[in-house]
Amino acid sequence: MKKLLTLSLLLVASFAFAQTGTPEVKKQNKTAVKYGNTITIEDLTSDLNILASDALEGRETGKRGQKMAATFIKAHFEELGLVGPVANGRGNGYYQDVKLKASTTGDVYLKVNGEQIKNIEGDLLYMGSGQTTDEITTDVVFVGNGSKEAFEKLDVKGKSILVILDGNDRAARNEASTQAKAKGAVAMYVVMQNSDTDFVKFKEKYAHYFTGERLSLDNGKAKDKKVSLASFYISPSVASKIMNTPFDKLSKSNDAFKKGKKSALKKVKAGKATYKLENIVKDLISENVLGYLEGTDLKDELIIITAHYDHIGIQDGKIHNGADDDGSGTVGLLEMAEAFAKAKADGNGPRRSILFMPVTGEEKGLLGSAYYAEHPIFPLENTVVDLNIDMIGRTGDRDFETEDYVFLVGADKISSELHQISEDANATYTKMYLDYTYNDEKHPDRIYYRSDHWNFAKKGVPIIFYFNGTHADYHKHTDTIEKINWEMLQKRTQLVFYTAWEIANRDARLVIDKKVEKN
Ligand SMILES: [Zn+2]
Repeated sequence: MKKLLTLSLLLVASFAFAQTGTPEVKKQNKTAVKYGNTITIEDLTSDLNILASDALEGRETGKRGQKMAATFIKAHFEELGLVGPVANGRGNGYYQDVKLKASTTGDVYLKVNGEQIKNIEGDLLYMGSGQTTDEITTDVVFVGNGSKEAFEKLDVKGKSILVILDGNDRAARNEASTQAKAKGAVAMYVVMQNSDTDFVKFKEKYAHYFTGERLSLDNGKAKDKKVSLASFYISPSVASKIMNTPFDKLSKSNDAFKKGKKSALKKVKAGKATYKLENIVKDLISENVLGYLEGTDLKDELIIITAHYDHIGIQDGKIHNGADDDGSGTVGLLEMAEAFAKAKADGNGPRRSILFMPVTGEEKGLLGSAYYAEHPIFPLENTVVDLNIDMIGRTGDRDFETEDYVFLVGADKISSELHQISEDANATYTKMYLDYTYNDEKHPDRIYYRSDHWNFAKKGVPIIFYFNGTHADYHKHTDTIEKINWEMLQKRTQLVFYTAWEIANRDARLVIDKKVEKN
């Protein structure tokens, strides 16, 4: 037994060693340290003072501030002598045009018993479906809380439905929408408040979500004709007008149904409403900025370093400077570009090539990196790794005492070797606490899917995502430069640098030994 016990303990230990790969403190590479030390707080500060300044208006994709940021980054790459690798690309080949579609909601209204109810102006909040239609009149079927059971005995094909929910219940609303689509309904009216006053409060709070510009990649294909469900939030009195039934009578039928009276909904006579939709689409060009540093004997193999240089612009009249998100990652990337360019100028350049690529459109749905992954300037099969940085300038919401940390996500998902290299680089140079809390794909915050590395991981390219966690100023106008922790921004940038240095100069290319699960 004892012998067996020691054997099994040994087995477990060896398995754990293989899994976590105890970091090896290696002898520091003096040449790497020489250039790692060129990553200074002074430079990081001067670059972030520009990127996170009010002058750049929060760098919203497609807007003036984002364009000014692109010019600043391009000038930085030019000064360093990096190459603009985009053949016939704008900005001397430093810009990869990212073709986008910008859609906004145009003239949308309902007509009920001849009365017109305008979107936003009236008790109507249209959720947007990308459609433009003439006036469409349909019967409106009451489906109570829109649960699966509620739809069972109701025919809603080609009609609209009315749903009454208890408050802002996202899951119930999604269920109703799924059922409605499955059953062939064309529109959905949702009531979530018991009074018109409460509806108006809700409308005022959330209107900007539905009136803003929605960006999507222009994949050059005509929009698929599949009609999506037109969805509207309405007030109790608009519901009552549509159904020609007092609202409390509808609520009573809903409660009766929820208490098990299956026929309660069927007893409600169908109503009628007309809706008219308009979706205004315009073409928009944004740009990824690319700075290429060619390697030597292994130059066909490429390392990509990404950070998104866009942010959310001006909201509620306030400039969202995005100093941490992702000004910190962008200036970290610029400093690494400088360090590697200096190394190359001294004849200590990397063996593999490096593409420094601040991407656009991250806040709009990882658009810039998605565009690059679909239109790579260098073959993805030659891309050895993507090191992605998004928010490394703060100490986030962590219940650990040490500030000397960084969250690492994805390092062991596609290449176990990459995880080991990352661990060793930290043990040898930066000695931070590497926190893998968000490394779990199933983590409720889904961090693995929420930044630009995901578009590379999806293509089977090994990735590491560097992140400090969210904080009280996340996506607020208070995410400003004076809150940056410069020592940690410098150290985290240096960890990425030393990891890149090792991958760029080692003999063997990273081995891909795992497959990415589709999310
Ligand atoms: Zn971000």
